[in-house]
Amino acid sequence: MVGKFLSQSCGGHDGVCDFCGPNVRTKIMRNIVAGNWKSNKLMSEALKWMEDMSPWMPNRGHVEVMVAPPTPYLAMMSSDAPKGLSVIAQNVSSEGSGAHTGEYTAEMLKSCGVSGAIVGHSERRARFGDTDALVAQKVRALVSEKLQAVFCCGETLDQREAGTAQTVVHDQLTTAILGLDASALPFVVVAYEPIWAIGTGKTASSEEAQAMHASIRGWMAETFGVEKASEVAILYGGSCKPSNAQELFSQQDINGGLIGGASLAPLDFQGVVEGHPASQQA
Ligand code: PEP
Repeated sequence: MVGKFLSQSCGGHDGVCDFCGPNVRTKIMRNIVAGNWKSNKLMSEALKWMEDMSPWMPNRGHVEVMVAPPTPYLAMMSSDAPKGLSVIAQNVSSEGSGAHTGEYTAEMLKSCGVSGAIVGHSERRARFGDTDALVAQKVRALVSEKLQAVFCCGETLDQREAGTAQTVVHDQLTTAILGLDASALPFVVVAYEPIWAIGTGKTASSEEAQAMHASIRGWMAETFGVEKASEVAILYGGSCKPSNAQELFSQQDINGGLIGGASLAPLDFQGVVEGHPASQQA
């Protein structure tokens, strides 16, 4: 399948590919590992994390490394981030500028050097009223500013046990992604995060994760065509750590991960990135 060949042979660059042949112009699959700190770390700890990551960053190979710190640190971290580290937000307003106390817009993020935002995380859906419709607006707010929308989807344990996991995920994709113009796809990253695996220590097996990723890729292909679908990075999230990253990231349609707990300590996060086959490519 295109995705596997491209992600494992070329590792995420865009252009004439030495591996695939001198005359083959390729639009290559992206490989991404993104950390989500949630509401963790004080400013001094955020600075220390960046300091510890900095010398390691050249070891990331062809993996795009992103981190989503708490909002107050975004501008500072974006301006001080080592080369190759993209700073993204954990949320964004669905609105533009105006009388929306407490909200921050995609344009504001962009003005701080922030590269994008996570939207639709299950914690926000469950506790902060992020409905499918609101998440869809947030995706649009980001892509219209040419910012990365790391769109989270995933089912609960009850839904998985009832056999409706795929329908749930396809419905989430339909609401958030369906109406987008194909030209927005370079700004869309899908993070499949089975809710029962987030922060629980329970990881989806690589087969379970791959099956859902293949079905997400299939949905993308039906909606936007096979070529466009192959260019969208689909990340796995849910108790991913150094010990299971390699097996997960070696699956055909798993292009990397959205990492919660294991992104907090630099060595763990580096271990997760190093589990990605594309990190071995110079
Ligand atoms: C997450 O919250 O996006 C996540 C994947 O968390 P964890 O890695 O801790 O399960």
